[in-house]
Amino acid sequence: MSTIVNISLSSDSTLKHYGRQFNDAVNLLNVIIRKSSFRELVNSFKYDWKHVDFQVEDASVYEHLFVRKKMHEMQVHVRNSLGKFGRKSTEILGTTVVGSPVTVVNEHWISKLPLNCFHTVMALSAHLAHEYCHQLGFYDGKHTKQINVVPYYIGDLVYDFANDLFATQK
Ligand SMILES: [Zn+2]
Repeated sequence: MSTIVNISLSSDSTLKHYGRQFNDAVNLLNVIIRKSSFRELVNSFKYDWKHVDFQVEDASVYEHLFVRKKMHEMQVHVRNSLGKFGRKSTEILGTTVVGSPVTVVNEHWISKLPLNCFHTVMALSAHLAHEYCHQLGFYDGKHTKQINVVPYYIGDLVYDFANDLFATQK
């Protein structure tokens, strides 16, 4: 039987003192993907499929990403990646080979986020959501301005939901 996926992180010593932030972020992500309003927005969006190597119907994006038979474990590693991502390495948050369960988060980015701050948890949730889409087979567009592709839209949507959740808790 299929059900809404539970996303977990593999424990990895490279997460070091960011471990709690990552755990809070993945817990938040699991809450957000269970909201019916989130599901409706994911399935009613008109996605940009130009220059994207994998495509599903707009109305089945949610099912494709989040309705699964088992838990999904993301293997997340924090790496000092300066120089390895090319010239724009300081702007890249992380990287996932599409279809692989392994995501590398750029230490240069995360080291600038304050510890014990909800902004950090929100930013990490959005980033994990983006990389999760890559792990499930979705690509970014080949052009830098393609923001309506699945990984970017889902990442931004998770950020908005996280923002609303924190706002209502104050
Ligand atoms: Zn991406």
